[in-house]
Amino acid sequence: MSDCLFCNIVGKKIPAKIVYEDEQVVAFDDIHPQAPVHTLVIPKKHMVAIQDCVESDQALLGHLLLACSKVVKVKGLSESGSRIVVNTGRDGGQTVFHVHLHVMGGRQMGWPPG
Ligand code: 5GP
Ligand code: ZN
Repeated sequence: MSDCLFCNIVGKKIPAKIVYEDEQVVAFDDIHPQAPVHTLVIPKKHMVAIQDCVESDQALLGHLLLACSKVVKVKGLSESGSRIVVNTGRDGGQTVFHVHLHVMGGRQMGWPPG
């Protein structure tokens, strides 16, 4: 989608600090990090939000989580821990409507989240 920010990052029309990439997903550092490590993992395919996903998206959704696991290792968070978050819809605080998982770490996270 040409008017989607994250599709434009996938298409390299908007620059981003790429952490990991394969044929299905790309991971890049968040422009406004909320923790020492804050990386976004997105599908290359445009998907609006988790609740719109269907059975045929199952493998890609699993692939996204495995990509998060790779980011955790690349960023050196395996031992210290991390938080993987998907903000969804208005109340969830989603602001970019292309599915993305936040991988955050490098500090102690609070619970419950705000
Ligand atoms: P959401 O609020 O939808 O869960 O998360 C969207 C995230 O995208 C935010 O953490 C925001 O900082 C990040 N973001 C917004 N615009 C850009 C951008 O142009 N580049 C990068 N790397 N991150 C962005
Ligand atoms: Zn998109």
